[in-house]
Amino acid sequence: MILDIPGKPLRKVELAEPKPEAGQVLIRVHACAVCRTDLHIVDGELTQPKLPLIPGHEIVGKVAAVGEEVTRFKVGDRVGVPWLGWTCGKCSYCKNSQENLCDDAKFTGYTLDGGYAEYAVADQRFCFPIPNSYSDAEAAPLLCAGLIGYRSLVKAGNGKRLGIYGFGAAAHIVAQVAKYQRREFYALTRPGDEAAKKFAMNLGAAWAGGSNELPPVKLDAAIIFAPAGELVPQALKAVGKGGIVICGGIHMSDIPTFPYSILWEERSICSVANLTRRDAEEFMALAPKVPVRTEVETFRLEEANEALNRLRFGKIRGAAVLTTSVVSC
Ligand SMILES: [Zn+2]
Ligand SMILES: [Zn+2]
Repeated sequence: MILDIPGKPLRKVELAEPKPEAGQVLIRVHACAVCRTDLHIVDGELTQPKLPLIPGHEIVGKVAAVGEEVTRFKVGDRVGVPWLGWTCGKCSYCKNSQENLCDDAKFTGYTLDGGYAEYAVADQRFCFPIPNSYSDAEAAPLLCAGLIGYRSLVKAGNGKRLGIYGFGAAAHIVAQVAKYQRREFYALTRPGDEAAKKFAMNLGAAWAGGSNELPPVKLDAAIIFAPAGELVPQALKAVGKGGIVICGGIHMSDIPTFPYSILWEERSICSVANLTRRDAEEFMALAPKVPVRTEVETFRLEEANEALNRLRFGKIRGAAVLTTSVVSC
């Protein structure tokens, strides 16, 4: 499924199977989750995609062939591919354990072709083994919703009371990790979205309410997964002194002006950009211990436009995942 021009639906095309170059693996894609970032790319809110583009950066599949110099994987191994697809290894960020900020980074399903396809190639260094306890579809959302959610949670610090704005794919994973870490989480959903509130309560929320409300207690930290800038001042009001507000998404509408008094007392605002391979290793080890259970709604690959639309209108419970029919391998 390819994107020709942002703003247009994806188009189903037949392409030649890609060839793995040195250091790359060819992957028979079994499942690819649909991330809000895909929506920002398709809608043109992220302005630098390669075109035409195969979107998708939460890929799970089996290695079908390996390029020269591939040592980490062999044919038949199950692997996952996340958003971070390549880094230079030389810039100051790469050298300082901040490869998520690499000046020349390449991103799966954005500046590299991704997983809305039957086959994909990926740099072996940015592929990860998938824990055995997950099916392909269940594992796919771990690759971004899980990893970015985990990075956001780490950035939020160790506070006990955690607010989560926007209760979708990333939130439902973070909530489980937060519970495992014996924290309380407070879910803030689209006002009036009773289904999302119920979903959060079922996952053990201490409280669930509309994002226009304030939770009954002051929070230590809040993570915003919804791409709505007006939630930043709202979250600042919800956190106590010294609290932190993490913006977990890659794109957000403009943040309205707000009085300095809601930032005062050492509250802070921080964004999360991309992920590092270390995040992936840590989270993939942690997920089966929690154990994180992902709730997925599956679509056939050809139904990618429908999956994106349902995500756009908040109609997905948990994560949307595209699956391909697997004949062999
Ligand atoms: Zn993503
Ligand atoms: Zn770099």
